[in-house]
Amino acid sequence: MTTRPRGNLFIVSSPSGGGKTTLIRRLIADPPGAPLHFSVSHTTRPMRAGERNGREYHFVTDGTFRKMAARKAFLEQNVVHGRRYGTSRAEVLPHLSRGEDVVLDIDVQGARDIRKVYPRAVSIFIVLPNLAELERRLRRRGLDRDEEIRRRLRAARVEIRKARQFQYVIVNDDLDRATLELQSLVRATRVTYARQRTCLDRVFREFR
Ligand code: ADP
Ligand code: 5GP
Repeated sequence: MTTRPRGNLFIVSSPSGGGKTTLIRRLIADPPGAPLHFSVSHTTRPMRAGERNGREYHFVTDGTFRKMAARKAFLEQNVVHGRRYGTSRAEVLPHLSRGEDVVLDIDVQGARDIRKVYPRAVSIFIVLPNLAELERRLRRRGLDRDEEIRRRLRAARVEIRKARQFQYVIVNDDLDRATLELQSLVRATRVTYARQRTCLDRVFREFR
């Protein structure tokens, strides 16, 4: 009996404002072949205008989050910018077992925790060419007040030092090129021998 190859798990991290949300949205909307599953995290932060429960996040109370944590529902959980965020097992493991690729949008600490429990994960760090551009994008996005933007810029200086812990780094200066790099990376992991061994088996037998 042949077992179905597991899907790949992609971790995408960056300082806030680096462009993860934008790049992941583009990847999901235009995947290189079979669709990828975006893992919807749980969070205790309030919903922003335009967000929908279950789409960007599962928005839960502190109590619900704690109960989930107590029954080990999370693969990893961390406090980011003062709020709780967690990647649930249910958003990841059943999809990987079905052979689907899964994408996580998580902070650098979460990325580290996921690599510990799932060393095969493919990790990608998104950076910007300079701090001034990061500040411009945070301001243009218009989600955060001045004080919060300054806090995120300070955090970015620390997070950027963690880039070396990631296998891949994408510089998000030009959005189309950065998207293409992310799509190419996903495509490359889909043509490994391990991923294709089941379907290639027939090809190799044919040549015997
Ligand atoms: P993150 O999810 O990492 O916090 P976002 O995807 O929200 O970052 O991007 C931050 C802001 O920068 C958004 O307003 C987004 O539209 C913009 N942005 C993302 N990538 C680019 C790019 N390559 N060029 C210009 N603006 C960008
Ligand atoms: P935001 O609230 O602005 O969408 O996200 C804030 C930060 O939390 C981002 O860096 C995002 O990547 C991170 N984040 C989102 N979901 C998770 C998660 O499940 N776990 C961890 N560790 N970080 C997350």
